[in-house]
Amino acid sequence: MTGLVPPRDDLRALEGYHSPQLDVSVRLNTNESPFPPPPEFVEAWTAALRDAPLHRYPDRAASDLRAALGEQLGQPAERLFCANGSNEVLQTLLLTYGGAGRKAAVFEPTYALHSHIARITATEVVFGERRADFSIDPDAAVSLVERERPTLTFVCSPNNPTGTVEPAATIDAILGATDGIVVVDEAYGEFAPRSALELVSDDGRLVVVRTYSKVWSMAALRLGYAVAPGWIVEELDKVVLPYHLDVATQLAGRLALDLAPEMGDRVHRLVDERERVAKEMSTMSGIEVYPSGANFVLFRVLGTAHTDGHAVWERMVAKGVLVRDFSRWPRLAECLRVTVGTPEENDVFLGALRVALQEGAA
Ligand code: PMP
Repeated sequence: MTGLVPPRDDLRALEGYHSPQLDVSVRLNTNESPFPPPPEFVEAWTAALRDAPLHRYPDRAASDLRAALGEQLGQPAERLFCANGSNEVLQTLLLTYGGAGRKAAVFEPTYALHSHIARITATEVVFGERRADFSIDPDAAVSLVERERPTLTFVCSPNNPTGTVEPAATIDAILGATDGIVVVDEAYGEFAPRSALELVSDDGRLVVVRTYSKVWSMAALRLGYAVAPGWIVEELDKVVLPYHLDVATQLAGRLALDLAPEMGDRVHRLVDERERVAKEMSTMSGIEVYPSGANFVLFRVLGTAHTDGHAVWERMVAKGVLVRDFSRWPRLAECLRVTVGTPEENDVFLGALRVALQEGAA
């Protein structure tokens, strides 16, 4: 017998998730921390790893990590579910509460993985549209969830890629209108002026998802978590693969918490840099800059006969600066997104953008 085996029918049209990397000197396209973890962390972690019993399976319940993280967040360990990056948290939520015959709601434009993983898990995706300023219209959101009855509604706040932070009133309105679970994706929550974390309760249906990839400088290690009512954590624990979270990641997640003051300091520095970069960008003609509560800034190139978003992106790459090109995405025409880097990287970015825009105006 020869021939290729096709994937499941409903997966045939699916495209992979791509965020192209180019070999340039200033890489500001994937929203990572510009700083590596502090050397004390690496030392403490590798020392702990040397003593870890590598021939044994890791603690399936990640008890030490959950206890330490819970203490830091002021949440009981029973409300914590940890996984390989917040993407695995999102996938486990969809495997548990989505699936054939069920729906997930998203508000576009937003993080593409919400609808991508929904499709992979055979969950039907229903779409709400954000307003022109990229905020969610609470009335439209209420109508959507009342009409479609999704079992999961994803609210990304701060929203990737727009940076928009939703008011608590919007989340409350959606919670009041749905009989499903509301997932607030706070991958960038620490950079924002407000969080939904305190709204999580055992008798509610709110889940907040966070990650170690940004603030904790640990994108390479893959650790994310949900803060959720205990009854949801119990279900997620049944669905996720046994021993999915390896010992190295569990140790890293726990030991990183000892550095909370330093990491908090880094967050303040990145927020200050974000404001400096956004302010400087707002003095440039030819772009519109959107307010952001995250570690990135979205901007729209106001197209002319000589330029558009993609042309500006190409000119910046030629100057050694890589930002994320959304210019041909639905609802994000001519938009580019820059991750906040070190002050030096940000200066190089600002210089390159200014020149790229001037070249386009010529
Ligand atoms: N949610 C959002 C909104 C994101 O932007 C990202 C990272 N791009 C993630 C989740 C996933 O992050 P990770 O899997 O690294 O925790």
